[in-house]
Amino acid sequence: MTPSKGGPLRLALLCLFTLVTATLTGLLALTAYDLAAGSAEGMLRNPTAQSPPGVDPDTGIDPEPRPAALQSSSSSDLSTTATRSITVAIDPGHGGPADTGGMHRNAEGEIDLTEKQVNLAIAIRLAELLRGEGYRVVLTREADKAVNDPPQDRNGDGQIDDHDELQARVDIVNASGARVFVSVHSNGFPDPAESGTEIWWSPDRSFADDNAFLAAQTQTAVLKRLADAGYRSEDRGLKVDRAYRVQDGSPYIFVLGPAIDEHHPRATQMPGILGETLFITNDTEAGLLRQPSIIDALAMGYRDGIVAFLTRR
Ligand SMILES: [Zn+2]
Repeated sequence: MTPSKGGPLRLALLCLFTLVTATLTGLLALTAYDLAAGSAEGMLRNPTAQSPPGVDPDTGIDPEPRPAALQSSSSSDLSTTATRSITVAIDPGHGGPADTGGMHRNAEGEIDLTEKQVNLAIAIRLAELLRGEGYRVVLTREADKAVNDPPQDRNGDGQIDDHDELQARVDIVNASGARVFVSVHSNGFPDPAESGTEIWWSPDRSFADDNAFLAAQTQTAVLKRLADAGYRSEDRGLKVDRAYRVQDGSPYIFVLGPAIDEHHPRATQMPGILGETLFITNDTEAGLLRQPSIIDALAMGYRDGIVAFLTRR
């Protein structure tokens, strides 16, 4: 793993923090969404695309820059009939009155920015960018609402809880026939000094290599797009979801990992990642997350990673 502040344990605590917050406030489903999933073997073949990436086995990051994929703000040459048959699924993390996700508080202690609204803004912009290039896009939510609404026992375990909210998202993603999936989140931690960008992926899927490639491409692209927008984000690296141990002891992020118990009967069926881009609990980064130019940069970073993945080799 890339040397990053805190490492996996620290990151697990990030999500734990969210879960504890959710529990304490009596709100369902917070953390659960700091978990996510995905696969798609059939890549779009683009003869002009670059050769396969040299992902560093230690860092999981491809050291080779990909100017063609990462620098253009629009790949109009990809707006062909071929892309129209490809679906991308986007999951804006959290949503609705019961699940704000992380939040920023002003000097008076009042909540002045919520993760659910930031995630949705990034996701909607990302959808616009992808549609502009000819891709079909499906979002798990397009407003400030829960996805499992009205609440149902989606996983059939006899209760309605945050697992059902996540299962509802996974089911939408799978039904969309998407070739690739991204869950969009913003990070949070009790210590407001924590900052930076990281991307989670699952190594325990049949399409693990695709997950790793997508994660590496997207991490590189997001950092570059932020730098282009004037912010040098700390690179917290790529994180494997085995390091995330919160969900009732599950070692996996719900929307990324395999289905392993009765609470999680259906896993995402295509390659995917969960992005934690910038910390909403950091004053500086919360300020950035209010800026349309930064939302745009984050969306472009995701778009670059997704397009690099779909047009690989
Ligand atoms: Zn989140």
